[in-house]
Amino acid sequence: MSRPPGGTTPRPVVPPAGARLGAVSLYPARAVVDLAAIRGNVRSLAAHAPSAQVMAVVKADAYGHGLVPSARAAVEGGATWLGAAQVAEALELRRAGVVGPRVLTWLYAPGAPLADAVAAVVDVSVAAAWALDEVVAAARVAHRTARVHLKVDTGLGRNGLTPGDLAALLPAVLRAQAEGAVEVVGVWSHLAFADEPAHPTVRAQAGVFADAVRTVEQAGLRPEVRHLANSAATLTDPSVHHDLVRPGIAVYGLSPVPQVGGPADFGLVPAMTFEAELATVKTVPAGQGLSYAHRYVTPQETVVGIVPVGYADGVPRHASGGQDGPGGPLRVGGRTLAVAGRVCMDQVVVDLGPGACEVAGDRVELFGTGADGGPTAQDWADAAGTIAYEIVTRVGARVPRVHVDTAAPSQGADRTQEVAR
Ligand SMILES: *Cc1c(COP(=O)(O)O)cnc(C)c1O
Repeated sequence: MSRPPGGTTPRPVVPPAGARLGAVSLYPARAVVDLAAIRGNVRSLAAHAPSAQVMAVVKADAYGHGLVPSARAAVEGGATWLGAAQVAEALELRRAGVVGPRVLTWLYAPGAPLADAVAAVVDVSVAAAWALDEVVAAARVAHRTARVHLKVDTGLGRNGLTPGDLAALLPAVLRAQAEGAVEVVGVWSHLAFADEPAHPTVRAQAGVFADAVRTVEQAGLRPEVRHLANSAATLTDPSVHHDLVRPGIAVYGLSPVPQVGGPADFGLVPAMTFEAELATVKTVPAGQGLSYAHRYVTPQETVVGIVPVGYADGVPRHASGGQDGPGGPLRVGGRTLAVAGRVCMDQVVVDLGPGACEVAGDRVELFGTGADGGPTAQDWADAAGTIAYEIVTRVGARVPRVHVDTAAPSQGADRTQEVAR
């Protein structure tokens, strides 16, 4: 062992990596994810679309909720399909032993590991001619027929074959299917305005989709599933349910159409509770500016609390509070307060009010189910000028996800199931 010059520097002693329980309890915040809520939400979605199968969309680490535990809960709730935007996410599901449900992946660039996807029985979307070529090549490498969903851009103006591109690609698709390289099992598309249920583009896209399905079938292909509906369309428009619905945000209990109704109106329960412990509590005088740039100035002598989460943990800086309005909401001791001043990288400040009796270590809830009148991810979205999707999906990678199951008999044991990140 080499000794530092002088020999006085103490040798660091650190806990071993993978001391999971330690990681949870050492971090002063966590995202607690209730798997029972995810199961129940999928059941509600299935009830909204009784004639369709449910694909739970688990992209982006299950919208920040933890990919594998969330996927398993969705399957327990009745999802027979899982949707993963990225190939790596789809492979992670299979690697974790999630082998029962169909898995679809749809967003990749040339050179993606499609042979791995085909070997893992992951269905692959085709949205361009080059993608068909790569899927055919992947099937040859994997010695297995690739299950393909043809993605049609029916008007979203994003990924997908235009109706003209689709017609032009069909001869190559038929050749690939004849030689056994691919099997077209799906035709699908995505809506631009599903969150505005009466928007005329929804009907227009549904019409273009019907034409595309007809084109594919007239070419002699017999896809198993046609699918168009995201969460909003699953909850508000049965006419576009087809054979399979693809809800994402609603699986996690958030409303895709907050202007129409909240989670409870659709039988949904928010699955994620984001909580922290107060790090410091202290009394400051009247006229004290709080946090960078002093955007909030205490109106009187008061007690302030330091909440040890900031934008590195996913607390949006746009939800800072100041003269121009309160910041994002925080539930402390049964009261709903607001972020005072700028959201920093690692912390925010809350004005607890004169004479507040909170102490360091007390629990702060940034958002949760809202059932007790507490703040929700939607409230944070409103405070930050964004959508609830972004609030949950951007909870920082360093925040431990703690999976609990409020339907399970022994709650204590489940709280230790932190997802390795
Ligand atoms: C993300 C996504 C979904 C799920 O959308 P939600 O609005 O979260 O329900 C469905 N389909 C595609 C193609 C997506 O990218």
